Amino acid sequence: MAAAPTLHQEIRIVNGFQVTSIPLSELDVWKKLESRRRLLSFDFEITARCNNNCRHCYINLPATEKNAINEELPLVKIQEIVDEAVSLGALWCLISGGEPLLRDDFPDIYQYMKKKGLLVSVFTNASLLTQDHIHLFKQYPPRDIEVTVYGVTKKNLRTGNPQIRIL
Ligand code: SF4
Repeated sequence: MAAAPTLHQEIRIVNGFQVTSIPLSELDVWKKLESRRRLLSFDFEITARCNNNCRHCYINLPATEKNAINEELPLVKIQEIVDEAVSLGALWCLISGGEPLLRDDFPDIYQYMKKKGLLVSVFTNASLLTQDHIHLFKQYPPRDIEVTVYGVTKKNLRTGNPQIRIL
């Protein structure tokens, strides 16, 4: 019987826990993907602006900053990139920012990706969520929506949206 291939496992202790890691290049699934060189997913930071100003954030230009608005890719360019990604085999897109709901054309961007057959995830702080967005997400369900909630006490876990309650 042939011996099982030896993986180059690395064992580390992180915060008291033993963590075993294996280089991606040694996993069978990687070898399959490498031979086809398929694009599976992509992230789209559709704006560098945010209505929040979290102290750790690297992409939170002011919501009304003209330069930041002018440098955003227009819808038609985003559509071209989505088309290209889908033609390369992409199945999944993560839309983030900044705060993606700041863009007036967010529904068009989102809907375009959904109509291209992509699974779509959205990272948002949810403070700008409207009934129109909710209707859009019901009509074209996202893969998931991740909402950032930062803070360590109920007092500082405040949101601008009364529909979001901290339990
Ligand atoms: S809500 Fe998100 S994008 Fe906005 S400032 Fe905070 S971490 Fe950055």
